Amino acid sequence: MNGPIMSIDRRTLLLSTGAWPWLNACQLKIGETLPPSRIVGAEAHAGHRLRGALPAASQSRKTRVLIVGSGASGAAAAYTLQKSGFTDFSLIDLAQTFGGNARSGGPSDARYPWGAHYLPQADEENRDLIDFLEHAGAMKNGVYNEDYLCHDREERIYYQGSWHEGLIPWVSLKPQDRSEVEAFLKLVESIRGKRDAKNKHAFRIPLDESSRENEYIQLDQQTFADFIRGQGWHSPFLSWYLNYCCRDDYGTDWEETSAWAGLHYFAARSGDKDKVLTWPEGNHWLVKQLMVGSEDRFQGDELSCRLLSKGKGWSLETYKSATGRVTAWEADAVILAVPRFVAARLGVDLPFAKQQVSYAPWMVANCHARSLPTNAGPGPGLAWDNVPYGSASLGYVVANHQTIARYPGASTLTSYWPLTGGSSEYLRTMAGFRASEDWARLVLADFDLMHPGFRSEIEGIDIWLWGHGMIQPKPGYLWGQLRDAMNQPTAYPGLYLAHTDMSGISIFEEAFAQGVKAARGVLRQLG
Ligand SMILES: Cc1cc2nc3c(=O)[nH]c(=O)nc-3n(C[C@H](O)[C@H](O)[C@H](O)COP(=O)(O)OP(=O)(O)OC[C@H]3O[C@@H](n4cnc5c(N)ncnc54)[C@H](O)[C@@H]3O)c2cc1C
Repeated sequence: MNGPIMSIDRRTLLLSTGAWPWLNACQLKIGETLPPSRIVGAEAHAGHRLRGALPAASQSRKTRVLIVGSGASGAAAAYTLQKSGFTDFSLIDLAQTFGGNARSGGPSDARYPWGAHYLPQADEENRDLIDFLEHAGAMKNGVYNEDYLCHDREERIYYQGSWHEGLIPWVSLKPQDRSEVEAFLKLVESIRGKRDAKNKHAFRIPLDESSRENEYIQLDQQTFADFIRGQGWHSPFLSWYLNYCCRDDYGTDWEETSAWAGLHYFAARSGDKDKVLTWPEGNHWLVKQLMVGSEDRFQGDELSCRLLSKGKGWSLETYKSATGRVTAWEADAVILAVPRFVAARLGVDLPFAKQQVSYAPWMVANCHARSLPTNAGPGPGLAWDNVPYGSASLGYVVANHQTIARYPGASTLTSYWPLTGGSSEYLRTMAGFRASEDWARLVLADFDLMHPGFRSEIEGIDIWLWGHGMIQPKPGYLWGQLRDAMNQPTAYPGLYLAHTDMSGISIFEEAFAQGVKAARGVLRQLG
């Protein structure tokens, strides 16, 4: 990336001294130099059009099935229709490209993720997902493609001045930390094997395949932090580690995460498959595979604004920001693969309660560097995922990790920041006020911690803000009445819903299951 080196000015300095504790933790120096930075991905503002008046429709389009939203859920619906031989459908999104939170950026030979970036290996029982992975070439006859399994070294942690393989620095832990981490992992192991009277696993993916026994779902009534403290565990490292996991998977502090969700993170997968699947462009690769053969049916820059029941079908008005024109889409069936807070604004009555459905804001920074980071201190070298203990970030992923042999030297490092430490609404609003330089300074401070001096290798920083990045599995949501109602068939013939907020856990597997389920409903209806 080219561009002038910027100097910090007084305005930026003042802007950076707001009420955001972890942002203020950065060292600010007059005369400090920063690489060029910019905030990309402006579609969040497009959504505000939903609240304003709309011009009259100037054109109309017909399709039998209209899928609204091209994240992993919408793309999985398209894949399911296409796979069954049903091709009279269209897929639209307010964004220019499909992928939702799993989108990516960069040139074709140096992609990097903007959001979702990995998929754990699937359990054999998840047949639909396995079939898709086989179909996509991610596995063949049950064996994963080595190109997509994360190459060694997968993850490491920077703890007390040195790097350690994995996320638990066993050799450096104090005895109390070590024994409590061991006790926690033992608990997870015992839960993982549990099945209820109906032979259902205590925790499963998709989440709705999990046991509904009270013994398990009552865990949804308390926070993960309270559950852990209730076991008599107070180890600082265990607390940090479990909070890190909640922030990583749910964008949510463990003090706000349901204990059921916290345990699900560890116990829902069989645990014998350590490597994850990843690609330079992250999970955009998966969405692209879902979309193979359906690319021509995708229309970007189509903000859905108003949904009206029309005869036996539906009419959906969309707004194109490039032309300012409104299109009226007519369809026999509609799949709304958008977050529920969006679907609930389109004019149909859907189960939703703003106070109970909360979304985590995120900041993701792609840092373009001349070289790869090296270690100042002891420990294993660069991993795909590099995590600093005690930071407000989750660390960084090396976007070109799977292709480093081909591209030694230059790198794109994707730095992940779930914005926690306040209400999501407050954090979302505050995020919108920050200039790119403020975010850049924060990201550089994180690199200073892990790799002193490396900041001078960073040539540019691109920043993406996800206002409603992920549904937050707060206590009471996963097994409460609202989510149950959100998953019931709608009161409207021909209207289907699919989004990870209906699962309560925002992972590719859940999006996939939601999309497949909605498309199967459509296929049953239309024959
Ligand atoms: C920073 C980050 C990192 C993540 N990392 C991972 C990971 O590593 N692995 C993983 O499995 N999951 C990860 N996730 C979770 C990821 O969100 C889910 O896995 C999944 O991609 C969500 O898909 P979805 O279709 O349910 O929702 P979304 O991706 O939210 O898709 C909804 C779509 O609806 C569109 N839309 C919204 N409103 C309108 C409208 N009015 N009109 C038209 N279109 C509209 C949006 O533009 C979007 O494309 C991450 C999420 C974030 C934010």
